[in-house]
Amino acid sequence: MRDLAAHPELLSLNTATVRERWGLEAIIEGCARHGIRAISPWRDQVAKAGLANVAKSIRAHGIGLSGYCRGGMFPAADDAGRQRARDDNLRALEEAVTLAAPCLILVVGGLPPGSKDIAGARRQVEEGIAWLLEAARPAGMKLAIEPLHPMYAADRACVNTLAQANDMCDRLGAGVGVAVDVYHVWWDPALEREIARAGRAGRLHAFHVCDWLVPTADLLLDRGMMGDGVIDIPRIRGWVEAGGFAGHVEVEIFSAANWWKREPDEVLRVCRERYDTVC
Ligand code: ZN
Repeated sequence: MRDLAAHPELLSLNTATVRERWGLEAIIEGCARHGIRAISPWRDQVAKAGLANVAKSIRAHGIGLSGYCRGGMFPAADDAGRQRARDDNLRALEEAVTLAAPCLILVVGGLPPGSKDIAGARRQVEEGIAWLLEAARPAGMKLAIEPLHPMYAADRACVNTLAQANDMCDRLGAGVGVAVDVYHVWWDPALEREIARAGRAGRLHAFHVCDWLVPTADLLLDRGMMGDGVIDIPRIRGWVEAGGFAGHVEVEIFSAANWWKREPDEVLRVCRERYDTVC
């Protein structure tokens, strides 16, 4: 297993972690100041800063990407809605290519409004990804399905375990893999086995860290800093690296009541410290 303290360059910041106080340009400059060599930016932040400006700025600061957030949200109530989602994914794919991201993260989507058909939603997800792959493969852009904790099945992602994501990847073929976010999968009794399976297939594309707080006050916006919760991050990282993953450790924290309120420079400093000592 890699000694992270000896590899400061493997730390990446998911830009949602400091999004409340800083725009993307300030985040890129902040990362450069703190020696953070990679980011995973969100589309709305990129749109606000301007795609060309962001591409230029990351190059100027020598900062790479660990992923691009995000595509997905495929299910819709009708054909027009599904086509809108696909067109939007195509734009996300083009942006990811422009920014030289290693992969486009997919938060696949939940149930269309009014629907109770989760099996149907999962079919729509698979059809949507199959469609997107037709453009992603020739562009050389990997897609990464991020299974989300089942509490998000209705509104964010109806792919909820790594086994489910692996099965989907098996059916879809080349060009699509998975993102392992410890927040979503730490509880899964099949996690070690399914990470190994993804590793054998060469489809471990991203690794996201934060922590699960006890109690959790908000289902979406109360993620903890690494070390403040119950997730054994080094154990999971060990499995991911044993599976052949050699990419970044991406810190992704949505924390409305705590970390988003703090001075971003302090947040980056703590991210660095916990990366060295906890992850
Ligand atoms: Zn994530």
